[in-house]
Parts: sequence; structure tokens; C-alpha cells
Amino acid sequence: MITFVGAGPGAEDLITVRGQRLLKEADIVIYAGSLVNPGLLKLCKEKCEIYNSAKMTLEEVLEVMVKGHGDGKEIVRLHTGDPCLYGAIREQMDELKKLEIPYEDCPGVSSFCGAAAALEAEYTLPGISQSVVITRMAGRTPVPEKEAVRSFAAHQATMVLFLSTGLLKELSAELIEGGYNEDTPAAIVYKATWPEQKVLRCTVGTLEQTAREADVTKTALIVVGEVLDGTYERSKLYDPTFTTEFRQASCSKKELGQTGENQSTEMRQEAEGQSK
Ligand code: SAH
Repeated sequence: MITFVGAGPGAEDLITVRGQRLLKEADIVIYAGSLVNPGLLKLCKEKCEIYNSAKMTLEEVLEVMVKGHGDGKEIVRLHTGDPCLYGAIREQMDELKKLEIPYEDCPGVSSFCGAAAALEAEYTLPGISQSVVITRMAGRTPVPEKEAVRSFAAHQATMVLFLSTGLLKELSAELIEGGYNEDTPAAIVYKATWPEQKVLRCTVGTLEQTAREADVTKTALIVVGEVLDGTYERSKLYDPTFTTEFRQASCSKKELGQTGENQSTEMRQEAEGQSK
């Protein structure tokens, strides 16, 4: 069996319990050496064969998988964060499918979650943004024109940009062209959850300068949006004046000293949805 495993964002203890077990049991591990913390490989058996895919082509990775599978070995393909984001797993899965080699996917903690933890941020604050756009600037891998950063920026939702640390000047320009004010709060999180993590708070207009001053050129995420700053509404779900599927309202807005209109049916339904 081949298992694609999410290694988590960096810290050795941020892999899942399942991922940890799979690493311990593996006969072969092919890890994405450019980003996966090599400390995780300490979990492997002494006899485990270890390959660094940073130096391999897709064909070479598949060759190791096919041979290992033929020899009845347990194989882990270790990707950074969660493999579903910029992990290039689909092309591996499709080839394995053609060869009728079974595989599974074990999720991991993506770096965008690690960055939120580093920032002590909630990406979806009531009254500010209820959506997170995960995207990247076009680099050597192009981005479809209809997904240009500027078109997402028009929504003013929280944005998390992968693989864009080398293009911060262009990124600021795109964000501003799309409608973000240059004073909009932003952050650069370098190596989230690694011991050498850096959290740099700045604005949309100062991204490039901030990265330059801190000497950050790669392995960083850019987070943009008002959720990094400013005011927000408290949640309906934990509001004492609010009834949900699991809890009756314990007091009225008047008792709580809240002003504003009565809770609408729509808001009540929304909270019920959230609590499911
Ligand atoms: N699948 C991974 C992303 C792989 S793409 C995930 O879910 O996180 C590689 C990019 O992810 C890097 O260029 C960087 O932008 C980001 N990245 C990965 N690990 C990171 C970390 N610990 N801190 C900040 N950014 C990280």
C-alpha cells in the first residue's frame, strides 16, 4: 500500500497520530525534502529506505513506488502540510490508478492553519469576513487569468497566499488594484510552527519592504485581511441571547445590555446550522 501523508507545517509533533503510525510502520519513505521537517524521519524504522523527492522526477518517484509495491513494502509519500494544497499528488495518484496500485491519503495540518496559530488569528470573523481565499501569485506555474489575485481581492475576504514570497511587490500591486486599501492589515509568516518561525505584521502596501528587512525570501505565507486587526461582531453561536439546536437562550438582549434588533429567524437558523 502507498499512503500519501500530510507531514504538517513543520513542528515535528504536528503530524497526525495516524501519520505518525504510518511513518513508524513504513518500509519506504519518499519525503518532500525542500519543506518537510527531516526530524520526522527519526520515527522511521532503522531499515526504512528513505528518498528525498526534492531531487527526483515524477517518473523516479513512481519507479520507487512501483518496485516497492511489487516487493510487498509499505510506502509513505510524505508531503508538507496537507497534500491537497500544491502537493502535486493528483499526478501520482492517477499513475498509480492506471497501474492498479492501491493508495490512500492521510491528511495533515496545512501551513495556513499553522500560520493562523502563529498569528493568533481567526480567519473567519463575524461581520468582517466569512471566507478564506487560498491562492498564489503566478510563478513558473501559471494561474488561470480568471483567478488573478486582483479578482479575489475585490471580495475583501481573508486571503492566504502560498508560494508568493518572491513576488511581494507584484502582489501588493495586484491587491491594491483589486480594491484593498494599502493600509489593510497583512502578515508574513515564515516557517510557521518551526523553531525559527517569524511573524511579521505589516500592511498590504509594505509587504515587500517588510520581507526584505527581515531577510525572508521563501517558505512563508502571506495573510491579508481586516481579520488581522480591528473590530468584529461576537459569534451568534456562543451568544447567551441566542437559541441553538443544543442550547436555549439564557437571557434576553435587554438583560445582557445589548442593543439592536431582535434575533431574526434567519440568524437563528444560521446558528443552528453552525452547531450541527
Ligand atoms: N501542502 C502544503 C503547501 C505546499 S506549497 C501545505 O498544506 O502547507 C509550499 C508553500 O507552502 C511554501 O512556498 C510556502 O508558501 C508554504 N509553506 C509551507 N510550509 C510553510 C510553513 N511552515 N510556514 C509558512 N509557509 C509555509
